[in-house]
Amino acid sequence: MTAFISAGHNPKGIKVDPGAVANGLHEADLTVEFRNLVVEQLIKKKVAVITDKDDARLGDYLKSIQTGSGSVVLEFHFDAAVSSTATGTTSLFGSDADRLDKAFAKELVETTSSILGIKNRGALSEKDSHRGSLGLMRKQGIVSLLEICFISNPSDVKAYNDNKKALALSIANIVERYENMI
Ligand SMILES: [Zn+2]
Repeated sequence: MTAFISAGHNPKGIKVDPGAVANGLHEADLTVEFRNLVVEQLIKKKVAVITDKDDARLGDYLKSIQTGSGSVVLEFHFDAAVSSTATGTTSLFGSDADRLDKAFAKELVETTSSILGIKNRGALSEKDSHRGSLGLMRKQGIVSLLEICFISNPSDVKAYNDNKKALALSIANIVERYENMI
């Protein structure tokens, strides 16, 4: 069984996708950094893992991967808002999610909220999010997208920077547990 762990945007390549940009930060740089921290922990745990490439468009990555019912599929993003006071973490599951998808998303958002000390905005169905229908959610396996915190909120970013290693370890533990469940 394999975990598929991706950064939501690509900071390199022919078509760079920086994601949200705020306070001089690019979402793509943060998602790549965090994906690498989580992957490092999964490798230590000997969990088989496939990741996206920093120069590959997300759509191309999604087309290239063959997940199965035994896969955990997780993608990281940072949220952004016009107001710098918008705060918190959110996770998403597919509109066709089953019990395990929902439980996985709920654990991810609860853990992130508790480790970063920021608001838990909940585990939401893609159809209740501003994102609408996501290609990621059409992949087989236990699938979630985690919005770690608001890149547009300096105190959220500080909470992330102060706690990212602990958060990466906790998320790797959750991924490993779900990998073993299916
Ligand atoms: Zn994003």
